[in-house]
Amino acid sequence: MDYQLENLMENIVLEKYNSMKDEFARCQCEQCKYDILAFVLNRLPPKYFVTDKGALYAKLDFLTIEFDAAIVTELIKAFEMIGSNPRHEKSS
Ligand SMILES: [Zn+2]
Repeated sequence: MDYQLENLMENIVLEKYNSMKDEFARCQCEQCKYDILAFVLNRLPPKYFVTDKGALYAKLDFLTIEFDAAIVTELIKAFEMIGSNPRHEKSS
């Protein structure tokens, strides 16, 4: 049996980022993407689990529901902040 240590919050935030980026992201480059993910992940509690794959997905559903509103709120802030002040030249 392979065990792994995973921060499920990362999976959830990444999934949420992908579902919101087309509507909210002013720039979807890798740099802005990871700046946004870091911003959000620093403001939400990490959720580490040691588990096998099957159990992981059950937890994922549960956490997605529990933290959905908080993640959306932080993501919108991050899109706004990093979008208006990217670490690279603005392209327009
Ligand atoms: Zn960018």
